[in-house]
Amino acid sequence: MRILFYETKSYDKESFENTLRSCPDIAIEYVKSDLDPRTAALAEGFDAVCAFVNSDIGTQTLEILHQKNIGLLLMRCAGFNNVDLDTAAKYNIRVMRVPGYSPEAVAEHAMALALASNRRLHKAYIKVRENDFSLNGLMGFNFYQKTAGIIGTGKIGAAMCRICQGFGMKVIAYDVYQNESLKSFVEYVPLDQLLSESDVISLHCPLMDSTYHIINLDTIRKMKNGVVLVNTSRGALVKTDDLIEGIRMHKFAGVGLDVYEEESNNVFEDRSEEILEHSTTARLLSFPNVVITSHQGFFTREALEAIAATTLQNAVDYMTGNKSDNDVRNV
Ligand code: NAD
Repeated sequence: MRILFYETKSYDKESFENTLRSCPDIAIEYVKSDLDPRTAALAEGFDAVCAFVNSDIGTQTLEILHQKNIGLLLMRCAGFNNVDLDTAAKYNIRVMRVPGYSPEAVAEHAMALALASNRRLHKAYIKVRENDFSLNGLMGFNFYQKTAGIIGTGKIGAAMCRICQGFGMKVIAYDVYQNESLKSFVEYVPLDQLLSESDVISLHCPLMDSTYHIINLDTIRKMKNGVVLVNTSRGALVKTDDLIEGIRMHKFAGVGLDVYEEESNNVFEDRSEEILEHSTTARLLSFPNVVITSHQGFFTREALEAIAATTLQNAVDYMTGNKSDNDVRNV
């Protein structure tokens, strides 16, 4: 089987080439371009394409892939909200994904963002490098014996609950489905109660109609003053303009974001002044208690190895006609 691998980064190539050694029937060709209607035609002569979370895999892209006889779309990520599943089904293109690779990778990053924004590590790092060893502006609060509020307790949220418990925090959670395995130490509460009682709030629910802008001025007003808010899930869970207003109201001790609404617009890849001037993300960066990272929650050695292993197993299951839980149509 020949796979065309889109949007290749050097670390992708390294982890996939390592795993490929045990898959003699698979060959991969890597391109830097992202998969979209302009690049789909590159898949001529391949059996499958491999894409990442922000690729444009709408109707037009899938029509071109179908013309090129592509039978398999390998998403090397959990999310597939940019894939037109109806068109994929119409053309019998099997869509497979990696539902979970390392929940701890993302949860650990969420805690890193909570700690960094609370203890102002981003400011401290710069100050010390400039020979300023004063403590002005660096005071935080203990997480020990405070309340962590976890919104969404699936794989990553559950890992975050365990980490917060390890910090000696009281852990409360809100989810539309309760995770029985957490009930020995997590108390499920209504969303409003979570908002009003938590000292640290971390978002771990997927982006859906019901969760779009779940953090807005109304929900921000219900939070405790001096709360730490972390989002490692999807940018549009948070209404950015309202978050900025909340920061201006001094609602937050810290805000840690690994994802943001403008992410797919390549705001920081295209660094033109015009884009930065109108960018809400750039406005967020101007606040001293906000820490932003560039969607790196998943980015650990263990997670990359797991992504490569599952993606190539998906390709093998396709070749052998095996059913798989990783088929997006089963979701
Ligand atoms: P998951 O499917 O295991 O868990 C999601 C949980 O959210 C489920 O328990 C579900 O019941 C709950 N949920 C659904 N609707 C809800 C609602 N309205 N309110 C509250 N909870 C609700 O998913 P996961 O693997 O834990 O991933 C969570 C999110 O993390 C993903 O959707 C993805 O957006 C994000 N993610 C980020 C990175 C990163 O690098 N930053 C990497 C992987 C995943």
